Amino acid sequence: MTSGSAFELPSDGLQKCIRCGMCLEACPTYALTGLETESPRGRIHLMDALTRQRVAATARVSLHLDRCLGCRACEAVCPSGVPYGELIELARAQLAPPSRLRDVLLRGILARPRVLDALGRVGSLYERTGLRALLHATGAIRALPPALRRLESLYPPLARPRYRPPARPAAPTARVALLLGCVMRVAYGDVHTSAARVLARLGVEVVDVPQQACCGALHAHAGDRAAARGLARRAIAAFDAAGVDAVVVDAAGCGAHMRSYAALLADDPAWAERARSFVAGVRDVTEYLASLDLPATLGRLEARMTYQDACHLAHAQGIRRQPRELLRRIEGLDLVEMPHADMCCGSAGTYNVVQPEYADLLQRAKVDAVLSTGATAVVSANPGCMLQIAAGLRARGADVAVLHVVEVLDRAMRP
Ligand code: SF4
Ligand code: SF4
Repeated sequence: MTSGSAFELPSDGLQKCIRCGMCLEACPTYALTGLETESPRGRIHLMDALTRQRVAATARVSLHLDRCLGCRACEAVCPSGVPYGELIELARAQLAPPSRLRDVLLRGILARPRVLDALGRVGSLYERTGLRALLHATGAIRALPPALRRLESLYPPLARPRYRPPARPAAPTARVALLLGCVMRVAYGDVHTSAARVLARLGVEVVDVPQQACCGALHAHAGDRAAARGLARRAIAAFDAAGVDAVVVDAAGCGAHMRSYAALLADDPAWAERARSFVAGVRDVTEYLASLDLPATLGRLEARMTYQDACHLAHAQGIRRQPRELLRRIEGLDLVEMPHADMCCGSAGTYNVVQPEYADLLQRAKVDAVLSTGATAVVSANPGCMLQIAAGLRARGADVAVLHVVEVLDRAMRP
């Protein structure tokens, strides 16, 4: 927060909290600590006190807000409609200290598809040449600074194939665009390929939108609202120009953020209306697929799998039924529920790097839940969850695959 500037949040949002405490049980950080200051109600109280200037924005106060995962599990169960996700994002935008490193990462890398692609190629070489394996085998990896070492340990799959658009269906029934995003573009291009291939097999044309870039979700979560607004305008302009029936998203965090464009640009007269109509056309890929006129079965795959609800799909977008319904249409697939499938895995954007202690505890609980099912694969719909769960399983030496819903459908529907 810059000195002299007042901390401000929409008071109608804050005042909606009636302190009932119904959100406490849903909150992962409250479940870990049992502390009111690490609960949604406590954080709302803190934000209110900051707004009324009853407490100062000290590092200790900020820490309680920083430890929030932004998972929005509290928002989903709140009977009073507190817009918690919006409040915490606005609070972070004011409390986040200026950081050159953050600017380089968010504005210089993530927001620029060409820079990201170049870095992705370097990363791919790092993996393909065996350098990564060598650094691990010799222990030289321990020479990296802790934050970088932690990022490395998440093992983003840098050598996975890039996105390859499928052939246009002979008689398409709909035209959609697919968000390629930033991290997903370089780390999970083959998941995009699976999404597009499944859509094409069901008669949906996926059109190319070369002007698209990052959706801005990581910028908003890290408190860089100016960059997030710029990226929202760019995305709206790019996808509007494509003239499609829907913008399909296969990363839950991105989809949830794109659905908030109307609120993000509400005070921009040139964009507010465009943002509202854009949001109406955003669909998570599972939501879109489940809305199609589907055949009775979606292929065959003999496997026992369990499904992990990504927070930004289940809590932020209310999508729980559709991914499960799609998986249940696959013949031979035994879908078993894990305990607390919708509890955050500790990924939460950059949370697993900046709050390692809580992230590790949540990761451990999630891996326990997965292993208790005896499944040979855990399925999710968000790249952050996939990375976090895969790292946790790897650390335990567990032989459990981590797949996106569209990858499972793609394999099952393969001719
Ligand atoms: S945020 Fe909602 S659920 Fe939580 S205490 Fe306030 S009103 Fe109750
Ligand atoms: S967003 Fe998640 S971690 Fe943050 S207060 Fe709400 S439930 Fe707790």
